[in-house]
Amino acid sequence: MKREFAVIGLGRFGGSICRELSMEGMEVMAIDHDEDKVNEYKNIASHAVIADSTDEASLKELGIKNIDHVIVAIGDNIQASILTTVILTDLGIKKITVKAQNDRHEKILNKIGADQVVHPERDMGKRIAHSIISNNILDYLELSDDHSIVEVKAGRKMRGNTLVDLDIRANYGCNVVAIKHGKEINVSPSADDVLKEDDVLIVIGSDKDISRFEKHLV
Ligand code: ADP
Repeated sequence: MKREFAVIGLGRFGGSICRELSMEGMEVMAIDHDEDKVNEYKNIASHAVIADSTDEASLKELGIKNIDHVIVAIGDNIQASILTTVILTDLGIKKITVKAQNDRHEKILNKIGADQVVHPERDMGKRIAHSIISNNILDYLELSDDHSIVEVKAGRKMRGNTLVDLDIRANYGCNVVAIKHGKEINVSPSADDVLKEDDVLIVIGSDKDISRFEKHLV
């Protein structure tokens, strides 16, 4: 059975989620209180409706209760975002994802029962900062407050060496979980594989350890 989604707030973030889900063939109800926004998504989403999500009766009328996963992508209006989330949790929606504007907003959303709180600007900022630090850092993904995964190009100091030579686990406390070479990805890298120029390492560890690893080896 197709999963059903609703996206509330069709700004840049909500709009992009709505487009992507629709392109993947999902049923999406696009909701915004701005008529122009709703018109923009008429031919993209399965349904596009004008509604104020802080009005419980309107949400009920839309049959939001039958939707599997609701994404609240209301931007600047923190009060509307919180109120909408409370209504959705009261209605017993199975999964609620909400975009947070700042750390305090995030805390409140977690307290009132959002299943997933996302912080796209902050997270993207961190990822870009890491790739700016070094041209060899291709991507950065936060796993928790103090653990991350980074994707790094085998730098000059790594090429021609094996994982044993570099002893990344002992020296930096990080684990190399996979090595990409072109389109191939080796998810169980062997200790004596020699790293080549275009190899990309996927490394997991605490932020402190990864930072040491980045400073010394990348
Ligand atoms: P972004 O930073 O992702 O572009 P915006 O703040 O521009 O976010 O967009 C948020 C969207 O949410 C806007 O299109 C706005 O009309 C919509 N929105 C805000 N409050 C409500 C509400 N109470 N009900 C429905 N839509 C809302």
